[in-house]
Amino acid sequence: MAIVEAAESSGPRRRLRALSPATLEPIGEFDCATPDDVRGAVERARKAQAGWAQLDFDARAKYLYALCQQVVARQDDIIELVIRETGKARNDAIAMEVFAPCDALTFYAKNAKKFLRSEKPRIHGVMGFMKKLRIIYKPLGVVGLITPWNGPVALSLVPMAQALMAGNAIVQKPSEVTPFSALLVKEMTEAAGFPPDLYQVVQGDGETGAALVEADVDKISFTGSVATGRKVGAACAQRLIPFTLELGGKDAMIVCADADLDRAAQGAVNGSCMNTGHYCCGTERIYVVGDVYDEFVEKVTARTRELRQSDVGESDVGAVFWDEQMKIIESHMDDARAKGANVLVGGRRNPNLKGLYFEPTVVTDVTHDMDLMTRETFGPIVSIMKVADEEEAISRANDSEYGLNGNVWTTDTEKGLRLAERLDTGGACVNDMAITYGIHEAPFGGVKASGLGQVNGPIGLRSYCHIMPLTADRKGKGKVQGGYPYTRKGEDGMQKAVKIFFGTRLARWFS
Ligand code: NAD
Repeated sequence: MAIVEAAESSGPRRRLRALSPATLEPIGEFDCATPDDVRGAVERARKAQAGWAQLDFDARAKYLYALCQQVVARQDDIIELVIRETGKARNDAIAMEVFAPCDALTFYAKNAKKFLRSEKPRIHGVMGFMKKLRIIYKPLGVVGLITPWNGPVALSLVPMAQALMAGNAIVQKPSEVTPFSALLVKEMTEAAGFPPDLYQVVQGDGETGAALVEADVDKISFTGSVATGRKVGAACAQRLIPFTLELGGKDAMIVCADADLDRAAQGAVNGSCMNTGHYCCGTERIYVVGDVYDEFVEKVTARTRELRQSDVGESDVGAVFWDEQMKIIESHMDDARAKGANVLVGGRRNPNLKGLYFEPTVVTDVTHDMDLMTRETFGPIVSIMKVADEEEAISRANDSEYGLNGNVWTTDTEKGLRLAERLDTGGACVNDMAITYGIHEAPFGGVKASGLGQVNGPIGLRSYCHIMPLTADRKGKGKVQGGYPYTRKGEDGMQKAVKIFFGTRLARWFS
């Protein structure tokens, strides 16, 4: 049984069928867009973008507010569809797929004008007497948005808010595992009165994604796995177009001896099990200083035992969204067991449920020889390792090919910030888990294998623009740079100028 399988096609396009991971029942079929379909969508998007780029920020913002209104009005439809597609817990669906997108749409609608306002920086030194500079944020054109299955609505709407406010059009290729959420997003953009073709969806699998990269797009905004990210990055490099890669992670949590252990235990369980552990900044490795290890493990174990897992009614930990991910989770658990890990809670597929459910799990006695501590597991697993002190914790945390986020738990916030700074990660939190993505003022993105470039905040918004400097004479008709014919007198003058402007400390201070 596969959550995405080939279906019979009556036309020229490959057809796929999607199943619900919660019930294993089919939920619908869809055609994969061909390279021609994709090129056509990009061409139409380019036409739509020309008009969109003419609108000022207030006018663009009105569309985003109208879309936000649609999300609010249709939140039950969103929640119901996302649960059908992914089997995620209802709370996860509301927090991630409704609240977070509304917050992003509102934030960028409100703030893009401030972040993308053209600037007039003063030019330093002698050039400042002659020239003036203006920096403008120019839309790139058509953005190809390629998204994964763990946050199908959020990861459509959050980048969309940024790309659109920056004046671009979008063609999105959603994951084949969650093919219908983006269609609902499309429906909502239509109801919000978006110009036709400004936002389009091309469905399909990796082939369609690759076709989007090869089409005439001006940027690729990719969120997904490291392996695919490398391919997308290489293809963009060939085309010499900009790209951002938001990739996988293996976030470490460091629990210091002075941590509030109740809060840290709650953070460990939430961070590891939220969204079934399918969260790029999910807590995947926990390093606990020896003095508080036993007490911490006890608290985490008690909390994890209380988690409910159900395919009907109230549930804390939802289904694993994809059978391929279930295989990875099970193989990491098998490997950990074989190498001596101790499973205190769960550790297996839930035998009482028909769908793809993995029990919330606590594992101790883990080592860096195990896949569970080195490769992205993306499951509801709390993996805990005892360390001698904070130094060992930092060194273990940094012993990873990934570098997305990390977190430090201590009652001494300043110490926490100092330790967090030493993590080789894109971002880090003190006494909380993966909150950075939800703080739109903050840039978000990984280092090492976790990605390239940053999204969100002013930097993210500007990454959807070409930052263009414009220069002109400061007053009236200035002098043209250089000037033929070259003469000895002119050259001597220039050498004198070098001495005058840079030859003394005082002169350098003024320059
Ligand atoms: P994936 O790489 O398998 O697929 C992502 C998207 O790329 C899908 O739409 C897929 O169809 C498409 N694709 C596949 N092959 C392609 C190709 N050759 N060219 C272009 N597109 C192609 O990832 P996934 O399994 O869908 O998502 C899970 C991964 O995403 C995890 O590693 C997770 O950590 C990561 N993720 C990262 C972030 C972040 O912000 N850093 C956020 C969410 C998820």
